[in-house]
Amino acid sequence: MERPDRTVRYEVRGGVAWIVMDRVRKRNAQSVPMTYELNEAFDRAAQDREVKVVVLAADGPHFSAGHDISDPARYDEPGHCVSTWAGWEAPGAEGRLAREHEIYFDMCKRWRDFAKPTIAAVQGKCIGGGLMLAWVCDLIVAAEDAFFLDPVVDFGVGGVEWLAHPWELGPRKAKELLMTAESWTARQAEAAGMVNHVVPADELEAFTQRLAEKIASKPQLAVKLVKQAINAAVDAQGQWNAMQTAFGLHQLAHTHNMLMFGEPMDPAGIPAKVRASMTAAAKDS
Ligand code: ZN
Repeated sequence: MERPDRTVRYEVRGGVAWIVMDRVRKRNAQSVPMTYELNEAFDRAAQDREVKVVVLAADGPHFSAGHDISDPARYDEPGHCVSTWAGWEAPGAEGRLAREHEIYFDMCKRWRDFAKPTIAAVQGKCIGGGLMLAWVCDLIVAAEDAFFLDPVVDFGVGGVEWLAHPWELGPRKAKELLMTAESWTARQAEAAGMVNHVVPADELEAFTQRLAEKIASKPQLAVKLVKQAINAAVDAQGQWNAMQTAFGLHQLAHTHNMLMFGEPMDPAGIPAKVRASMTAAAKDS
């Protein structure tokens, strides 16, 4: 039976599973419970023989404001582990490394390798960790009102945990997005190759369903093999190795902030002094 406080809805329409983030009051910020509910939904879609394609979408005006940096209890749920990175409660960098490996890095890898085609349907804000959710999908459809930014340079950290930016945007645009922490419109993201289609906001759901049904009508093994082959090409370019390096650098930045600011990190890993300097957009996330 589904819990009444669930943050993710799951429904199947015409061979397409819609995994819908339903934490509108928090602009679909990704809490730990939401992370595991998303993972459960992906697992359900994987096992569901009726499902040929998965859409990751969001209720409300915004896709996702990123990782939930306001929920102090968000790490207090040991026992959920899809990786072997236990020990979340360990002090200092050790616990943070374990937590972020499991709930961000390994989880994204798991969803990126999901053995059915996936499409993200993005409207409104897609900030920081929200990019990670969209990027692990095979295709991205954006509403005209969507905008994208990774503001974590303002937090003293060089990009979110899943540093796919060079592949999503090309290296030069990726540097600009990160170094400036500015937001990009859906059209800018489309021009950079990050987004497949930009559609009017009121057509996002119907357009995405039609796109998903088109893919669902194809021989499913062939579609699955296309995904495997193209992901293998990206891996052959070194994405996985580069992202592991970037994840280590991300942890270095967290630890530097902890040492330099000499104060306990809050659950999001953002010292109060850094948080005070965050941009308005990031604060609003
Ligand atoms: Zn982090």
